[in-house]
Amino acid sequence: MRTFKGLLTAAAIAVAAVLAINPQSALIGDAEAAGGLIHSRNQIAPNRYVYYPGTEVLAGDEMRVVACGTGMPNSRRSQAASCFLIELGNGDKFLFDIGTGSSANLAALMIPNAWLDKIFLTHLHTDHIGDLDALWAGGWTAGRFHELEIWGPSGSTPEMGTKYAMEHFLKTFTWDKETRQAKLAPRGGEMIVHEFDYSVPNQVVYDKNGVVIRSWPAMDIADGPVSYSLEWKGMKVVFGGDTGPNKWFIEHATNADLVIHEAFMLPEQMVKNYNLPPVAAMMVCCQLHTGPHAFGKIMSAVEPRHAVAYHFFNDPNIRYEMYEGIRQTYQGPLSMAEDLMVWNVTKDAITERMAVTTDDAWGVPTLAKPAPGTGKKWMSKEIAEGRWQPAYDAQDAVLDQYVEDFGIKPEQDWRNKQ
Ligand SMILES: [Zn+2]
Repeated sequence: MRTFKGLLTAAAIAVAAVLAINPQSALIGDAEAAGGLIHSRNQIAPNRYVYYPGTEVLAGDEMRVVACGTGMPNSRRSQAASCFLIELGNGDKFLFDIGTGSSANLAALMIPNAWLDKIFLTHLHTDHIGDLDALWAGGWTAGRFHELEIWGPSGSTPEMGTKYAMEHFLKTFTWDKETRQAKLAPRGGEMIVHEFDYSVPNQVVYDKNGVVIRSWPAMDIADGPVSYSLEWKGMKVVFGGDTGPNKWFIEHATNADLVIHEAFMLPEQMVKNYNLPPVAAMMVCCQLHTGPHAFGKIMSAVEPRHAVAYHFFNDPNIRYEMYEGIRQTYQGPLSMAEDLMVWNVTKDAITERMAVTTDDAWGVPTLAKPAPGTGKKWMSKEIAEGRWQPAYDAQDAVLDQYVEDFGIKPEQDWRNKQ
């Protein structure tokens, strides 16, 4: 196996060989570099094959859609569960689903957390809401000092709806919420929930700042799931959520620019890779969800400018068989989505790229000033008296210096309040 160092050595020898043949070639400025023609050796590439988060300003009439989760309920490092981020040239940002594992991909985009405060849920399965806890608490600790706003469907009973789920989400995390609210801006631990009737086709559920978001019923195992469209500046993105093929999607996704719809793995693939019983695999793929052939048929009917398939494990042995299935019924532009795939949408073009991100992202705050916490004390005297003083004393000298460096006043120093 060749090492990286070995490859570098080989590359250096190749460059030296070229220079030996034509020493002038090293002096010529113009070159076809990655991304197009450059005129000097110090110039950046004019175009990029990949998206580096935080380096591109969206035009006033441009959208960027990022897949933050494209996989399944089973956790895997290479693919989180369902989550798509839509960013608009006016600065608005909307999340559609926040499935298990997706918040790490979202964090890798290094967008200030205060701006990631609007989530539209298609339904309440964990592979679509599983990382809500991470965004709720993590976003709060990293600078979202106001409420997380959630939109989601009702269910066939109140207990099956989004409002109930969010109320009980906050109840589940009572200890987390109360203890953080003691120290952090309390509003950041709250939610504003907008529950709407799942059964109304093409209803407006959001209308602000020139952005209109609509919902219509989807069909996944029970009443409740919905699909969404987002319209802005004459462009339309559709996000299907989980659904079998349905009439509402055909009617309301037609002529959209970017249409994101689930495509489930073929039954044989799920039998082989998931060990699902054959009868169950057939039902999961092709009744509760949408198999590749049905996905293609839907796209041929709605004719998007660009179709996106997701909600499958995007491995080579899965992807190509699914692609062949889709191509039997749909010949248009298509992405087989994977995590951190990025689409830029304008009226002129839709491009697909991959984001290049860091694994070591930090939460990005804004300059918003936090309100003080409630100050409520949740630690009893008995537990507080368990403090082992020698270790606290050991950090005194460094904290004294820190207090001086940052101009912390004596009344602000916790050591003076004990
Ligand atoms: Zn799902």
